[in-house]
Amino acid sequence: MPETRIISVDEEDMKTAVEEAVALLAQGEVVALPTETVYGLAADAFNADAVAKVFAAKERPAFDPLIVHISSFKELAEVAEVPEDISALVKSLAGAFWPGPLTIILPKTANVPDLVTSGLPTVAVRQSGNIIFRNVGKALGRPIAAPSANRFGRISPTSASAVMKELDGRIPLIIDGGACREGIESTIVTLEARGEQRPVIHILRAGPVTKEELQKFGKVVIEKKVSDRPDAPGQLASHYAPRTPLLMFDKPEDFRPEPGKKYGLLSYRGDPKAGYIDLHEWEIVEELSPGSGKLMEAALRLFHVMRVLDEEGLDAIVAEPVSETGLGVAIMDRLRRAAAPR
Ligand code: AMP
Ligand code: MG
Repeated sequence: MPETRIISVDEEDMKTAVEEAVALLAQGEVVALPTETVYGLAADAFNADAVAKVFAAKERPAFDPLIVHISSFKELAEVAEVPEDISALVKSLAGAFWPGPLTIILPKTANVPDLVTSGLPTVAVRQSGNIIFRNVGKALGRPIAAPSANRFGRISPTSASAVMKELDGRIPLIIDGGACREGIESTIVTLEARGEQRPVIHILRAGPVTKEELQKFGKVVIEKKVSDRPDAPGQLASHYAPRTPLLMFDKPEDFRPEPGKKYGLLSYRGDPKAGYIDLHEWEIVEELSPGSGKLMEAALRLFHVMRVLDEEGLDAIVAEPVSETGLGVAIMDRLRRAAAPR
């Protein structure tokens, strides 16, 4: 593989960046593109050879299916067969959240190669709200399969430089569209019709679209099942992980530092009241939300802060929990997976 090129986009030269990305994708190559959640590693979703390159570059096991991105609602019919009994719900959800960070699992069409869905009869679909990504999709005229642009199991990249650290020399091109707006991966849902009753929306992966927001459209259930193999509908226990072990405790006093070891603290907002700051002489303390002290800022900075701490040469990172409401559910989900045994 030749060197990985980066093209930075500012408004005026978006056209060049889009053209270069589309040219590569049309040839069956892979390109890292910004989305509003995290950077994605894109391939033509209908080209199985191109999709195979995504798995190879990421060292992603073939049992972990990809998300397919459409650039208009019309394109949905090319990738998914929406069952009659949930079609009104799909339309409402798309109307409310697309383009945006909501992924819906639906029965796939024959166009979608089995590699994309890891052999599952269903496909994960969303429409990205990032303008660069959307323009690439429109110009390509085909749906784009794109998982996060990191090596398998590692921290998702929220900047072009983070993609470079993960995939340098493994992919031909990164389009740098600046920092991602959301910072964590999309909310993934499956839908269940129940006749006259309110439909059920099962959250398979918590994300920027919260349980509270989805409740308007049906009964919402957060699925807690985690497994080592993401068969339908699967989620891996250990994921989004820094190389440095990440520790979480039920209560601060459960942390027992070993003598001579170096620990860093991933703090929510640097508040001693959380019980962690004064617990230990930390090598370094990084705050998720130093500005607003809000969950939105914390979500946005989560993977960046994990990367910063990971590069400090620590023996372990201790993470403070955040409150599990709204976006806090998605943040805690990522922290637990990062802390899960490998
Ligand atoms: P990523 O694109 O890296 O954020 O990962 C996509 C995730 O979507 C996978 O790890 C799965 O957990 C989930 N996913 C994709 N397709 C399906 C599907 N057909 N059924 C259930 N989950 C899916
Ligand atoms: Mg991923």
